[in-house]
Amino acid sequence: MGDVAVGEHRPPLCVEGMISGAESYCAKHGLRFTDSRRRVLELLLEAPKAVGAYELLEQLRREKRGAQPPAVYRALDFLVAHGFVHKIDRLSAFVACAHPHEDHLPVFMVCNRCESVTELCSSQPTDFLDAAAREVGFLLEETVVEAFGICTRCKEAKQPA
Ligand SMILES: [Zn+2]
Ligand SMILES: [Zn+2]
Repeated sequence: MGDVAVGEHRPPLCVEGMISGAESYCAKHGLRFTDSRRRVLELLLEAPKAVGAYELLEQLRREKRGAQPPAVYRALDFLVAHGFVHKIDRLSAFVACAHPHEDHLPVFMVCNRCESVTELCSSQPTDFLDAAAREVGFLLEETVVEAFGICTRCKEAKQPA
């Protein structure tokens, strides 16, 4: 946990490893890992940035899978509900979770220029929220932190060498 460097572009996730992990998770929990669920997860794992549902649908159509919008939305709902994928609300786009099924509070660093998303795995930044919530007697069920800024690569690209 916490081995993701701040400011880096999202480190490439091992697609094969993540897919076989998803496969065995689904098998173990009696969930169906259908073709469209698998393909949508693969596309998100391969993507360097958050991807919108429409883009995913276009990609599936290019692959001539006769993909229909409901199939893509259902696949995304499934992947989000079961912790394989996170939704970045402000971008209306999706990223594959870097730590599926680990107990974690997702913290996303989203680049305003290239829309790359780095998922940090830390509970630190939300500790203050827990404390604040306890104070007013609010039971937190879900906390998602989306931070926006400029990633290392874009920052360097801007500066003269
Ligand atoms: Zn995650
Ligand atoms: Zn960037």
